[in-house]
Amino acid sequence: RVDDHWLRLPNRWDIPVEICAGPDVPLEPAAVDEVLSVLETAETLERLAEATPGYDGPAPRIARLALTPDFHKGAGIPIGTVVETEHALIPQAVGNDVNCGMRLEVTSLDVDAVRPRLDALERRFRHLYFEGGRRIALTPVQREALLRDGLPGLLLAPGPARWPGLRPGDADDSVDRAHACAFPARTAAAFADWIGSAGGASGEPSNDGIIGGIGGGNHFVELQYVARVHDASAAHAWGLAPGTVVTMAHSGSLSPGHQAGGTALDLLRAGWPAGLPRPRNGIMPFLPDRRPEADAARRRYLDAFGNAANFALGNRFFLSLTMRAGLAAECGEPDARPLYDAPHNLFWQHGGGQDGGQGGGTDGDLAHGRVVHRKGATPAGGHADTVGGPFAMWGEPVIVPGSMGAASFVLRGLGEPRTLGSACHGAGRRVPRGASARANDAELEAFLREFRVVTPLDHRDPVVARRADVMAAWRRDLKQEAPWAYKDIGPVVAGLAGGGVAVPVAELRPLLTVKG
Ligand code: 5GP
Ligand code: MN
Ligand code: MN
Repeated sequence: RVDDHWLRLPNRWDIPVEICAGPDVPLEPAAVDEVLSVLETAETLERLAEATPGYDGPAPRIARLALTPDFHKGAGIPIGTVVETEHALIPQAVGNDVNCGMRLEVTSLDVDAVRPRLDALERRFRHLYFEGGRRIALTPVQREALLRDGLPGLLLAPGPARWPGLRPGDADDSVDRAHACAFPARTAAAFADWIGSAGGASGEPSNDGIIGGIGGGNHFVELQYVARVHDASAAHAWGLAPGTVVTMAHSGSLSPGHQAGGTALDLLRAGWPAGLPRPRNGIMPFLPDRRPEADAARRRYLDAFGNAANFALGNRFFLSLTMRAGLAAECGEPDARPLYDAPHNLFWQHGGGQDGGQGGGTDGDLAHGRVVHRKGATPAGGHADTVGGPFAMWGEPVIVPGSMGAASFVLRGLGEPRTLGSACHGAGRRVPRGASARANDAELEAFLREFRVVTPLDHRDPVVARRADVMAAWRRDLKQEAPWAYKDIGPVVAGLAGGGVAVPVAELRPLLTVKG
């Protein structure tokens, strides 16, 4: 431990590993072991460069690692890991759910106006999210525009865009109010099926039900309100007055992201030099290898990655629009606009390539600059990192959800170099999935009396309630996501503040959570 808020993990490769965590946040030994195993990739990089026939690029290396206060064991690389490389791209350091992220919208509604409508909103949201109620139809042209050119691509594409909740400023906001709004891809060929199946040859808009879905597990859409303001000036600038109703959407790229991750592993395995053993930790990188087949493989992955990352932006956008539509139907047309869209599973190329600090992705030429990978960590740039944008004054908004029964936070980033300008993207899981399911049913009942959760299954429906087997499965799933499955958000946020990573701006409380 270096001080109250920082630890450093010594290792035999002398790679700087900084952990931001206060004394009150429990460190998981298995996650620390996993960090050490990630560092073995330093050797993989050396061996791969040696064993790749004709490799004449610069020597790839891991420059540093940072861990955010919520870090916990993942499948090979902990959630909450930031990896900076030189001349190497590690798809697994992005995680399987490419461009998973949080989108926060601020409405003109006050909590006192919304509270009396929560029963109606609950029914409305169940209908919109789970009973085919949302009307998000895209033409094949719009689908392709989204996959290739991101959210601005979708919003500027020709064709009918009459999705419920859409407002005139959305196209501008899609650029200004997002950490990254587009991941240019040369093609959407990997997702041709998805584009082709929609609307067929006629080019008519259709809804095949993929986009606008929440996804399972810890993905959610939540209606929240500002319960407390911590930084009055920033909160005022961001429209976060006490009582203000906001919506938070957490989702990723659903099947396209998993496809992109799978494509990466297939390509890396296929191109692995004969005779070089596969790495023990399973982590395989792309190098700036200029042989045509290697170059083509890397670019194929980057296209799939771009498509998936763009899809995720669209998905969070539509989840938020559906929230707007539900609020409009029950509480009167709200003025709802995004504060920020923040990705937490991505990589960024800095310096050298065509992308600067703000956008994500890379031009595919890894010979120049560094690549920052974040897996379950969110950007937390300071005001100097957000030059010219709407956040130049206060720094980048950092969205840190707690759980469906706890507070969530909006902070402002300080651009702390030790976390490579990153913060945590949640409280983090406290207990493994299985263990949280063992909490007793009385605890769950108490939780459900206090908090509103909308799931695909309507547990209040008497027909459903009589099915003991269905209810048992539903309870088991819900317990995995209950507040006791997650760490206490208080010490996590205090750690970010104490470590100089981000300043708390406002504390949000849940009114209603929709879980996929
Ligand atoms: P991820 O799935 O991206 O690793 O984690 C997202 C974070 O969201 C978790 O660490 C947890 O703190 C938080 N979280 C999970 N479910 C909910 C929810 O239903 N509502 C809120 N507000 N936060 C949640
Ligand atoms: Mn996520
Ligand atoms: Mn995700």
